[in-house]
Amino acid sequence: MTPQLQIIDHPLIQHKLSLMRDKDTSSGDFRKLLREISYLMAFEVTRDFPISHQRIQTPLTEMKAPFIEGKKLALIAILRAGLGFLDGMLELIPSARVGHIGLFRDPESLEAVEYYFKVPNALEERDCIVVDPMLATGHSACAALDRIKPLRPRSLKFMSLVSAPEGVKELHQHHPDVPIYTAALDDALNDHKYILPGLGDAGDRLFGTK
Ligand code: URA
Repeated sequence: MTPQLQIIDHPLIQHKLSLMRDKDTSSGDFRKLLREISYLMAFEVTRDFPISHQRIQTPLTEMKAPFIEGKKLALIAILRAGLGFLDGMLELIPSARVGHIGLFRDPESLEAVEYYFKVPNALEERDCIVVDPMLATGHSACAALDRIKPLRPRSLKFMSLVSAPEGVKELHQHHPDVPIYTAALDDALNDHKYILPGLGDAGDRLFGTK
């Protein structure tokens, strides 16, 4: 299986991401930009959703019109920064169900430790997208996918805003079958495992906690 990495380099997304990266961008603007970007990224992440046709009547005639088959999407947000991805995507796909996985980084081992897990039932009938704006070491992403996979979702994708090569490698190694969608592949991690150039701590910037 060839692991997939799709970089969504649409100019609108790249422009908004540059605004988010700027250290002087306020929390309010940061949140708004992430909401807008997640809305735009949702188009690409859902591009392969299956379509089926149903007969409808337009004001002028009858036609076989395309509809998304099933419409069973589950968005799983990795807390807390993953929350920033939800509003934009839910605006576009309001019928999606939402799950949450709480993970924190153990300060010693830097491994992901789970403190919360609640996801929609019957995931085997749903296309599942795990969302976290920052794919850094890949530990949280791998831990989330490790938990979701045994629930056998109909399909499984991972979506981030900014990714580090280290995180992409880790995810591809442990979950080569899960495609990654991201808006940027940055240079590297620093000694504190922050992405460079990155945008800082996404959770803090979203919620104004620093
Ligand atoms: N998490 C963040 O919020 N930012 C990073 O750069 C890496 C992990």
